Amino acid sequence: MRFNPFLDAIKTYESGKDIDLIAKEYGLKEVIKLASNENPYGTSKKAKEAIINNAHLAHLYPDDTMSELKQALAQKYDVLNENIIIGSGSDQIIEYIVHAKLDHTKAYLQCGVSFAMYEIYAKQLGVKIYKTQSKTHDLEQLYDLYQKHKSEIKVIFLCLPNNPLGECLDASVVFEFLEKIDEDCLVAIDGAYNEFASFKDSKKHINPKKLINKFSNCVYLGTFSKLYGLGGMRVGYGIASKEIINAFYKIRAPFNVTNLSLKAAVAALDDVEFVQKTLENNFTQMKLYEDFAKKYEINFIQSYTNFITYFFNEKNSTDLSEKMLKKGIIIRNLQSYGLNAVRISIGTAYENSKFFKEFSEIF
Ligand SMILES: *Cc1c(COP(=O)(O)O)cnc(C)c1O
Repeated sequence: MRFNPFLDAIKTYESGKDIDLIAKEYGLKEVIKLASNENPYGTSKKAKEAIINNAHLAHLYPDDTMSELKQALAQKYDVLNENIIIGSGSDQIIEYIVHAKLDHTKAYLQCGVSFAMYEIYAKQLGVKIYKTQSKTHDLEQLYDLYQKHKSEIKVIFLCLPNNPLGECLDASVVFEFLEKIDEDCLVAIDGAYNEFASFKDSKKHINPKKLINKFSNCVYLGTFSKLYGLGGMRVGYGIASKEIINAFYKIRAPFNVTNLSLKAAVAALDDVEFVQKTLENNFTQMKLYEDFAKKYEINFIQSYTNFITYFFNEKNSTDLSEKMLKKGIIIRNLQSYGLNAVRISIGTAYENSKFFKEFSEIF
């Protein structure tokens, strides 16, 4: 069978491996997953209760206005319901962005190494991709490329902080950059980990209300999959001008988020204590990963997220991740991004101590 020829250029997204599958495959009693940047403390109690207490609604389609969750987000960010769209993960909003603005005659711009889904959605449509020489976000290089190919570039993705490298820009320099971008170019600020960055350094905080009030061509992306511990429920959102949201609505399928997911997300927003504990523990544990890297002379970039990326010289990241897998620890090999590196999600104190023990043995 012949398929859309654009698909030939796509490398299928490589997800973090599943705990139960690895346990079975290697005959392991315990498997620790530090590969998909999920919340190591699980799901907040409030969100779990919401899922259980609403289980009787599973036969019904959800409220397709999603007004309860929109209202909760509108309140959190001090924006209007009409500025919000909810997706099955913020992945889905990335898809809307690409479909709303791009086709095979246009291009999008990103830094050298960033979240793989931008590229996957864009390639589906044969969109041209411009990446900077710099792997991390370098606004000068981004602007140079933008200037050169302005007529083609209709979307810019800024991942702040960046997955899979962990670095982050100050909000003030991002705002200065946005001043120089044309009104007809849609700029997406992917804030999947922005709560982590803001906690570590308030200068990194992107305020979605300020962003969209100042720049009508910007969309902010948020997710419940990381800090809020709902990766399995698939909820994310976009915040933008009404005009942009309305365009996305033309692409959205009805009932794209389940009613249990919507209920869980509303409850998760309310669980301030769980969120606070997650943030505090994350950076206490991150420090141990930095100390470990220094001790073993492993290179890393200062991370503003809930993961850390280790870069290797002589050792091979594929080999290291496979050896760790056999010991029951799943980490993310970054060879598919062209990096001899691994990305490790920060786990609980117990999980991290297991990581240090096993990794120091194989290293
Ligand atoms: C995890 C992640 C997302 C979206 O995750 P969803 O589970 O689809 O909400 C978006 N961008 C980045 C950079 C991510 O790491």
